Amino acid sequence: MSHLSLAELEKQLITYRHDFHEYPELANHEFKTTAKIKAILEAWHIKILPTKLKTGVFAEIGLKTKPLIALRADIDALPITEASGVSFSSKVPGVMHACGHDTHIAALLGAAYLLKQEEAALPGKIRLIFQLSEEDQEGALQVIDDGQLTDVKAILGFHNTPQQPVGAIGLKAGITSGAIDKFKVTLSGVGTHASAPQNGKDPIPALGATISALQTIVSRNLDPFKAGVVSITHVNAGNTWNVLPEKAFFEGTVRTADKEVRKQIKQRFFETVKYTAKAQQIQADIDWYDGDPSVDNDAKLTALVQDETEKFAPTYVQQSKLGSDDFACYQALIPGVYANIGNGGSVSAHNPHFIADDKLIIVGAQFFEKNARRWLAELAD
Ligand SMILES: [Zn+2]
Ligand SMILES: [Zn+2]
Repeated sequence: MSHLSLAELEKQLITYRHDFHEYPELANHEFKTTAKIKAILEAWHIKILPTKLKTGVFAEIGLKTKPLIALRADIDALPITEASGVSFSSKVPGVMHACGHDTHIAALLGAAYLLKQEEAALPGKIRLIFQLSEEDQEGALQVIDDGQLTDVKAILGFHNTPQQPVGAIGLKAGITSGAIDKFKVTLSGVGTHASAPQNGKDPIPALGATISALQTIVSRNLDPFKAGVVSITHVNAGNTWNVLPEKAFFEGTVRTADKEVRKQIKQRFFETVKYTAKAQQIQADIDWYDGDPSVDNDAKLTALVQDETEKFAPTYVQQSKLGSDDFACYQALIPGVYANIGNGGSVSAHNPHFIADDKLIIVGAQFFEKNARRWLAELAD
């Protein structure tokens, strides 16, 4: 393994990043991405771990078995046609790294290189998790099912973020993202001629009343100092002008910060839908999907990361958002820290004009590397 200076490594990582960006792959289909990550790690003589998953790469660095910590980067892209105009734009029609996961991959590869240099001196072991399928909220659970979190004491990750200077690192203890739940509701009545509503049970007024009533959960039930969102995003009923339909449908999502609010909104949602529909003689069937919990950064580890990170990069207080990341699934099992690193851009993720500056990659690599060393030193007994 030839020794690269930090500047040479950065150049190499940018080349890798541009390649990942040009050939993005959707969640659960990261086949070429997986093969490329493996090939790079193998060329550096890093041990690849067995897996039952078809995509994603798991690897280990360190000669000691304990303590074991994990570093995670997500690797999937989005079904978006790129319009960023960068020279390394996507060559795959309709697919784009519009969430910047290509920068996460490159940063974790960089950390792997740096940590491998002094492998024998590491006071523990580091597991590298190149996670599949973050965008469809399935990847972290697949990784956990595959046993990749077994014996891991703590986990570290980051997401690039716009509206922050490139390389500035955002940290915050506690909850920083939303829990994400989903619902689908079918309102069933009795269809009839539009001229004779008395012969049927029209679900459309019930649909309107239910949507209005649901808006009062956040405004009338929630403590104003707590965060929660109820969004109805898709409504459907009827298909012509002179027929009252049999059924009406709506779906949407609930986002919450803390666990108690999550329970409270779910309970009020069921009551509101059931009784509002019942008042109009309509049957309501609710399908509720409990999604990922909130990202919840461990206070002690966040303080450690803060202390270590300040030595090499500017930091800022991360802003909490009700968006989600399946990194939260790991934190539901073991303590972890999920940071943000400024990407120097102004366009939000999941937008065709999204741009993340290459300069964040080497900062991300050092963020992983330096904090991994610090965690191993602190967690060693
Ligand atoms: Zn995303
Ligand atoms: Zn993302």
